[in-house]
Amino acid sequence: MKIVVCIKQVPDTTEIKINPKTGTLIREGVPSIMNPDDKSGLEVALSLKDKYGASVTVITMGPPQAEAILLEAMAMGADDAILLTDRKFAGADTLATSNALAGALRKMEWDLIIAGRQAIDGDTAQVGPQIAEHLDIPQISYVVDIEKDIHDNTFVIKKQTEEGYQILEANTPLLITVLSSANKPRYMSVNGIVTAVDKKICVLGAANIEVDEEKLGLKGSPTKVHKAFSKGVKSAGEVFEVEPDEAVGIIISRLKEKYII
Ligand SMILES: Cc1cc2nc3c(=O)[nH]c(=O)nc-3n(C[C@H](O)[C@H](O)[C@H](O)COP(=O)(O)OP(=O)(O)OC[C@H]3O[C@@H](n4cnc5c(N)ncnc54)[C@H](O)[C@@H]3O)c2cc1C
Repeated sequence: MKIVVCIKQVPDTTEIKINPKTGTLIREGVPSIMNPDDKSGLEVALSLKDKYGASVTVITMGPPQAEAILLEAMAMGADDAILLTDRKFAGADTLATSNALAGALRKMEWDLIIAGRQAIDGDTAQVGPQIAEHLDIPQISYVVDIEKDIHDNTFVIKKQTEEGYQILEANTPLLITVLSSANKPRYMSVNGIVTAVDKKICVLGAANIEVDEEKLGLKGSPTKVHKAFSKGVKSAGEVFEVEPDEAVGIIISRLKEKYII
């Protein structure tokens, strides 16, 4: 079984700040991490590898320094890594990002593609489903568990919904998007770190993926960020120390005052 995991390098959002004048993210000096949902997606892939045998390749689109999360992924147990990097990818929105990733995936062999549910910086949850659409393969999002039927290529998948869970069956080729609550990702092992340093990352640019340049980077991005801003700090509010029955009455009257109910 061949598994590819899409991983994204994101700023650690606990440290993020926005330039109040330009409305853009201040990335300088902000530590970068592997997106949490993607790390859980990688753990899903590595667990499938442990149980059933598989090759696990990680892929990211980003600047050269995104290499750090690829090395981390290989130190956790991924076999190979691909870095998609090119100035022509710069300024990509989700559609241009998924076009580039799908272009690289078309050049590879895989049975299962795993993405995170969403990235903690962009937060759109669009890239995984868009990749599946570009590749014309089935997708299951919000996955928290996956088991393989050892007799065939059927996967039994647990998907989280607002009401509870759905248990679904699917065959490969398949794309799933994974939630960070799915598991506790393993740590890098000492042996893994030593082997990862010796491994060569495959670096691809726009010329290697045969995607029309009009579909990549800023040119291929139909959405434009108008403004980004932090939520303003709210006042502490009013504190009432009352019994629950009285609290309900107060809340209802306040909501009515504001015409919310
Ligand atoms: C107009 C516009 C311009 C932008 N310009 C820039 C820019 O110049 N530089 C910049 O850094 N960002 C830019 N962005 C943000 C960029 O488009 C998004 O970060 C990117 O498309 C991913 O979207 P997301 O973060 O919402 O990911 P989501 O859709 O929330 O991610 C879901 C999953 O898809 C996978 N995934 C997402 N992105 C990648 C990736 N790059 N590599 C591998 N897997 C991935 C991961 O598995 C992830 O968990 C721009 C966005 C817009 C709208």
